[in-house]
Amino acid sequence: MDHDALRDWSKRAADWAHDYHAGLRDRPVRAQVAPGDVAARLPAAAPEAAEPMEAIWADFEALIPDAMTHWQHPRFFAYFPANAAPASMLAEQLANAIAAQCMLWQTAPAATELEQVVTGWLRDALALPGDFTGTIHDSATTATLAAVLTMRERALGWAGNAAGLAGQPALRLYTSAQSHSSVDKAARVAGIGQENLVKVPVRADHGMCPDALVRAIAADRADGFSPAGVVLCAGGTGIGAFDPMAECIAAAHAAALPVHVDAAWAGSAMICPEFRHRWDGVADADSVVVNPHKWLGAQFDCTVQFLRDPAAQIRTLGLKPDYLQSPGAGEVTDFNDWTLPLGRRFRSLKLWFVLRAYGLGGLRGRIRDHVAWAAELAQALAALPGVGIVTPPSLSLFTFALDAGDAATQAMLERINADGRVYLTQTRHDGRFVIRVQVGPFDCTRADVMTVRDVVAELMR
Ligand SMILES: *Cc1c(COP(=O)(O)O)cnc(C)c1O
Repeated sequence: MDHDALRDWSKRAADWAHDYHAGLRDRPVRAQVAPGDVAARLPAAAPEAAEPMEAIWADFEALIPDAMTHWQHPRFFAYFPANAAPASMLAEQLANAIAAQCMLWQTAPAATELEQVVTGWLRDALALPGDFTGTIHDSATTATLAAVLTMRERALGWAGNAAGLAGQPALRLYTSAQSHSSVDKAARVAGIGQENLVKVPVRADHGMCPDALVRAIAADRADGFSPAGVVLCAGGTGIGAFDPMAECIAAAHAAALPVHVDAAWAGSAMICPEFRHRWDGVADADSVVVNPHKWLGAQFDCTVQFLRDPAAQIRTLGLKPDYLQSPGAGEVTDFNDWTLPLGRRFRSLKLWFVLRAYGLGGLRGRIRDHVAWAAELAQALAALPGVGIVTPPSLSLFTFALDAGDAATQAMLERINADGRVYLTQTRHDGRFVIRVQVGPFDCTRADVMTVRDVVAELMR
């Protein structure tokens, strides 16, 4: 294939994409295939000779779409959304065509400066203070790892980077049991260790107890550990729990510890002023991560980390071998010093397109609808005999279960997903198996959301 053929096939791909999206409501949301089905239909080895594009395309249509779970389906209420707004898809096409490595200002001046400008737009839209600066990572997992590595090096006076971790004091990190597993992964990968990630007890509302945080830090210091930092949760993945930001950040700072806030999912909702009370106090954090690739519509991958002072993270992650030296040092920003991989995709383009093509008003309207419809759906489910809401809506996320117990709830979830009209997933809460519902697809309607009630009602009969 050459670039002339690419032009023709791209047009065909655009038509295919249009029809795929137009037909999504007629497809089951979750792939209805068994493990191994797809692999069994593929040849064992790559072809020696070039194959015609027609054949490759025909196999794509025959093998792939029906064996995918459709994340852009308007009735995808599982996990969290991974929204790809049409304007984001267009920006990705253009970024794909340019296919640049955006590691240094010099290797991608427009991408670097656009990243600075649009993360500033997003910061202001979230009402974060103007002294935060943003950078774009591939995922919240790596943003949190970057923050935890920085906590580690700060606590060790950068001796970990220089000499390795052997013989260093045992570090401690603090988070709550409601925080995402990416915090556990960061503790492991950063060489701090799972056992040194302290899960601070939570209050009745499932937010971290600030007094318990104070006690845990003091007890660790008395026992000879070196506390390194606190990771707070603003919208946990299980049930949408929020730690009390102001009290926990004050406690951490009183103990001279930096704070990273994981708002990967819920952060997008903070473009709406009426939801910001949920993370009151976040302005004093040292680092905040938000995933526009979840609820906002800038497709995966697009994670924004806001840093109060990037110097410590740059000192932790930045490296300038001879072959990366470029003119303008000190004058320009080389974003590879802020994030883990050297290579960086042109991710700011899709955020720019999304913010402009829908406007903050359009994005707020969607999020407000989702929150309102989640509340309405929770009420409708609660009205069904034998169904109970376990955790009330936190923004657009709530959980429910059947009165008949865990086995019945689990069987109900399997039947809901086999039915295919909607897709839901599970978590455990206070020892119970519960079904999660999050309302977040970019173009879902109220009717799409209320389909959950219809499906559950039918299956209860
Ligand atoms: C989704 C999620 C993550 C992980 O996000 P990735 O970008 O997939 O790494 C982390 N924390 C929270 C609260 C999340 O909802």
